[in-house]
Amino acid sequence: MTKFIDGNKIDGLPVICALDVKELDAGEHKFWFRAATDALAQWQHLPVWVFKGKEAGKHIVVTAGVHGDEYNGVLAAQAIARGLRGKALNGSITIVPTINLSGMLHHSRDFFSSDPDVSCGNLNRHFPGNANGNEPQRYLHSIWHNLLKPNAELAIDLHTQTSGTVYPLYVFADFRIADAVNMARLMNRMRFWTIQAKRVYWRRYGTRTAFQASPLKPVLAVTRTAKWWHVQWQVHSTFSPTTA
Ligand SMILES: [Zn+2]
Repeated sequence: MTKFIDGNKIDGLPVICALDVKELDAGEHKFWFRAATDALAQWQHLPVWVFKGKEAGKHIVVTAGVHGDEYNGVLAAQAIARGLRGKALNGSITIVPTINLSGMLHHSRDFFSSDPDVSCGNLNRHFPGNANGNEPQRYLHSIWHNLLKPNAELAIDLHTQTSGTVYPLYVFADFRIADAVNMARLMNRMRFWTIQAKRVYWRRYGTRTAFQASPLKPVLAVTRTAKWWHVQWQVHSTFSPTTA
């Protein structure tokens, strides 16, 4: 059930503390999701877009910014939302582009806890949260149970390079779920672009060895997190001779 905070709006948009996309009318919806309070007892709000079609279909959730310094995913989620405006679709897509608000404010991968006995840490390690746990667990409990899980038959969590690191291009997917497998295999299209980039690189810089050591080689991996079936897109954010 979608729960509105009566009379409470931010920038003209309704504030909610629970979302059920099945109840919404077809069309575009924007909300602020009330996640949890901070150390000053002020509510932290996540922006939420919902695009719902007139016809039945899969309910999909797109998230980004679980790691607060991974901005490519945030921008990608926003671009997806812009691309969906005015488009016909079946089912629904819920987009939450900024999961880790405190990390983003600090330009940090980690979630910044205000609990005096809890150090800052990787928010991704605290799903699905705990209503009676520490601050990151309480924060995630509300997001998981009232926003993400009820509206996701399939979910895409967008990541990219954390500051100062170099990863290969890869996707996590649970291969026991057909849709997840299909989506993961779409990464083969990315492999096409990788090959094209490789050709350009060889033409420009003339060394195969340098590219083979580069982070553009795609890797496919399988994983499962508790009760959360997901595809994770991890896309290398830069391509330059200095990263090869
Ligand atoms: Zn990440």
